[in-house]
Amino acid sequence: MNAMTRIEMTPVGTQPVQSYTREARSDLVRAIAGLVGAGSRVEADVPLSSRTTLRVGGPADCFLTPESEEDLSRAVAWCDHHRIPWMVLGRGSNLLVRDGGIEGLVIHLNHPFFHRIENLGDNRLLCGAGSRLRQVANAARDHSIGGLEFLEGIPGSVGGALRMNAGAMGGEIFDFLNSFRFLDSDGTIHELDRDQVDYHYRSCPMLVGHVALSAVLTGTPSDSDSIRRRMKQSNEKRWSSQPAAPSAGCTFKNPARIPAGKLIEELGLKGASIGGARVSEVHGNFMVNDGTARAADFLQLIHLIQESARTRAGIELHTEVQIVGVEP
Ligand SMILES: Cc1cc2nc3c(=O)[nH]c(=O)nc-3n(C[C@H](O)[C@H](O)[C@H](O)COP(=O)(O)OP(=O)(O)OC[C@H]3O[C@@H](n4cnc5c(N)ncnc54)[C@H](O)[C@@H]3O)c2cc1C
Repeated sequence: MNAMTRIEMTPVGTQPVQSYTREARSDLVRAIAGLVGAGSRVEADVPLSSRTTLRVGGPADCFLTPESEEDLSRAVAWCDHHRIPWMVLGRGSNLLVRDGGIEGLVIHLNHPFFHRIENLGDNRLLCGAGSRLRQVANAARDHSIGGLEFLEGIPGSVGGALRMNAGAMGGEIFDFLNSFRFLDSDGTIHELDRDQVDYHYRSCPMLVGHVALSAVLTGTPSDSDSIRRRMKQSNEKRWSSQPAAPSAGCTFKNPARIPAGKLIEELGLKGASIGGARVSEVHGNFMVNDGTARAADFLQLIHLIQESARTRAGIELHTEVQIVGVEP
């Protein structure tokens, strides 16, 4: 594992700062496989284009689907100790992975252990970080817990939603968060109440470098039929205003003065394209993949939009989509 010691520490979700000796990736795969139980999956060179909704991006050197918190903890602590870059992938619905892929370890909480959703009573649900937001919304409806309907159409996981403070239709996940558990880079598990954490519009910065494990969400008493009706309304509103083609949702955070989609439309950039990446005709803040795009096309398109917003409207657009990985 000598080659590995040359890698500098990389926080979750950011660019590795050093060139990575990819020849060492088979050592990494072997080392991680030696740390975890037989039920955890360890794979090499997993293409991330098939694990992200935007459908672009190169491979992950090592891809771990842990079967337990213990395996996850061992793998993260080992990477931290050996200064191997690592990051968590949720449902990949807010990610733009560069064409060179992701160096080091990518962790995917897709084992059924991380999918559990439990009714705790008093309108509270315990949700594993890997559970899908749609499943959470359905479970809330089945237990007559209101308020979580907006999660239905967001194609992410609970972990990704906490990191992004995901929201729609006037609600966001932190509004309904009671407490959550997470793992730090030493592999130690902590629990915090919502009030102990800083969170903002589409971001919970303390989760950078940490792994969300589970959350307790609290709704309000409601009857299943009204919840079902609200979910249907929210679903109809969503699909009449957003494209069906592969995307990563909203590309940019909304600036204070004007919604990003409206600004992009006013700049005349709806329909603009580079390679296989296009600004959606349906919603200016969505970039879609026509099936042939590479990450580089999306990066250029983002740059073009930011440049145009800056020079023509004096507005700085910041990406909501998380851009990760390395150039080929
Ligand atoms: C069609 C479409 C519609 C969308 N609509 C909305 C919307 O209405 N509102 C909205 O807010 N978003 C929306 N999104 C964006 C996206 O679904 C959300 O941001 C979602 O919360 C991302 O979850 P994910 O599991 O896919 O995370 P990923 O995209 O996999 O990851 C996003 C970030 O979260 C981190 N992360 C993931 N899991 C964990 C974890 N367990 N612990 C710590 N960090 C973690 C990743 O490292 C990464 O930095 C939409 C996306 C699409 C494609």
